[in-house]
Amino acid sequence: MTAPAERIVIENCAVATVDADGTEYPAGHVVVAGDRIESVGPGPAPAGLDGVVRRVDGTGHLLTPGLVNTHHHFYQWITRGLATDHNLFDWLVALYPTWARIDEGMTHAAAQGSLAMMARGGVTTAMDHHYVFPRGTGDLSGSIIRAAAGMGVRLTLARGSMDRGESDGGLPPDFAVETLDDALAATEETIDKHHDASFGAMTQIAVAPCSPFSVSTELLRQGAELARRKGVRLHTHGSETVEEEQFCRELFGMGPTDYFESTGWLGEDVWMAHCVHMADSDIAAFARTRTGVAHCPSSNARLAAGIARVPDMLAAGVPVGLGVDGTASNESGELHTELRNALLINRLGAHREAALTARQALRLGTYGGARVLGRAEEIGSLEAGKLADLVLWRMDTLAHASIADPVAALVLGAAAPVTLSLVNGRPVVEDGRLVTADEDAIARTTRDEARRLARIAGLSG
Ligand SMILES: [Zn+2]
Repeated sequence: MTAPAERIVIENCAVATVDADGTEYPAGHVVVAGDRIESVGPGPAPAGLDGVVRRVDGTGHLLTPGLVNTHHHFYQWITRGLATDHNLFDWLVALYPTWARIDEGMTHAAAQGSLAMMARGGVTTAMDHHYVFPRGTGDLSGSIIRAAAGMGVRLTLARGSMDRGESDGGLPPDFAVETLDDALAATEETIDKHHDASFGAMTQIAVAPCSPFSVSTELLRQGAELARRKGVRLHTHGSETVEEEQFCRELFGMGPTDYFESTGWLGEDVWMAHCVHMADSDIAAFARTRTGVAHCPSSNARLAAGIARVPDMLAAGVPVGLGVDGTASNESGELHTELRNALLINRLGAHREAALTARQALRLGTYGGARVLGRAEEIGSLEAGKLADLVLWRMDTLAHASIADPVAALVLGAAAPVTLSLVNGRPVVEDGRLVTADEDAIARTTRDEARRLARIAGLSG
């Protein structure tokens, strides 16, 4: 006989479940049993529960599902603050030579920095699209997975790749790319070693060639075949800038969405970052195929890429989640502030006051993200039977106490502090501090690794 699950009770807080009906309770409760949500409802938790090991008084708080980040490049944590006034292509060309010098120690430290920053801001599921694999620099994928496991944060690692160097008409320098065969073999090995398809998995792997201008058509084609043979998801960058659109038209005689479709890259197992430059027909193709989008409003603004048409995508039925993108183009690295940025930028883009509501923004950052990562049955909303990934946001301090609506306070107000976050029912943040890692030690290590990289890359003396 297995031991009865230990229970955690959280009550007296506002609850935004983000379920299909958008159910909310002004004062409600959640009961966690082991790694699952056992019940959610109005008022206090049911009386007489056995095995309660912790009872949290959530007075003055809002309880939501944990935030889900759908696009990031963790390694960029140690190349922040460079090329700060560039568009995408110029920014990439400026940074590739530095990125090509990363090693396992740097990658691990940068992953810890990226994960710590997000976890402290309510992220319970992270993703890392890692596509720089210099030869002979150790087990970079393993170092990223180790960092997430150590912090207790759920991870999708998108094993990226680049095989179209400058001499093949691509953007990255030749020394920064892998061969087609090496990229495919290493991606398959990463899936075999690390992908966990079971309910509640802490680590999943996706196949993720970097972008149309840095990978060959063959890598896209064979990458899609590999992903489908292995039953894992597919991820890449798409339709980020006008320059990318021009690149595709010149090289392939069609725009990015048609090019992706011709290589097997539209489908319900695919999600793409950005999707800024999308015609009505592109949005219709994404909707028809249920291809997902990782919307990255701050990065798109930082690189002056443009404004993705998220309200039109949602209206058409396209699955959309939020991403911070790599921190070389979004130095903050926080996802909770992207809720606000998504709302503001999409209202500006659509010139419409209700183009994206506060509740839609919260849904993008939770359930929407879970859906594009293929995990909507497990996470993304507070419902009985789902995994206990949740966040208790503090709303009773100067920043938020006088805001009438807690969901509006979370989305529109200042970045809210996290009193408690759970992943699989286990605490990751308590009273605004990580409990699974030492933030100050990570700050020191990432600073040292950023300096070491700058020295090796010749950026400083
Ligand atoms: Zn990106």
